[in-house]
Amino acid sequence: MVVYRCWECDAAVTRPVTKLTDETLLQEGESVMQLAEMGAGEPDYVPEGYYLESPDDSPIPRADGWPLLNPEDMVETTLDMEVYCGCCGPDGGQGPNTDCRNGHKIGIERGDCWTVHSVALDPKAIYQE
Ligand SMILES: [Zn+2]
Repeated sequence: MVVYRCWECDAAVTRPVTKLTDETLLQEGESVMQLAEMGAGEPDYVPEGYYLESPDDSPIPRADGWPLLNPEDMVETTLDMEVYCGCCGPDGGQGPNTDCRNGHKIGIERGDCWTVHSVALDPKAIYQE
């Protein structure tokens, strides 16, 4: 298991998470949209407790190659309301919108009603421990 930490201040930004190796656990494309349309909500891209390392094709804009996590596994992070955009949640379209507890930008959360729910961590802003 690993914990991701802020590169600038060493604050933990995630719970301990396990590398996801079974990609059939990912919620993709149509199944996510069906969940959203059924009002099932919370179409999490990555299951809780896991991280997906460096996906080539990220469901979060401009985050290809960034590790992906479940929003529930984030610890003491906050959304930056200056770059917040979305209707029921952040759509992540404005770039990095997630700060560590000391206000350093560490990634992009996407969790609107029409998107997957996931967090991409900026590889230049975090490290694994
Ligand atoms: Zn920090």
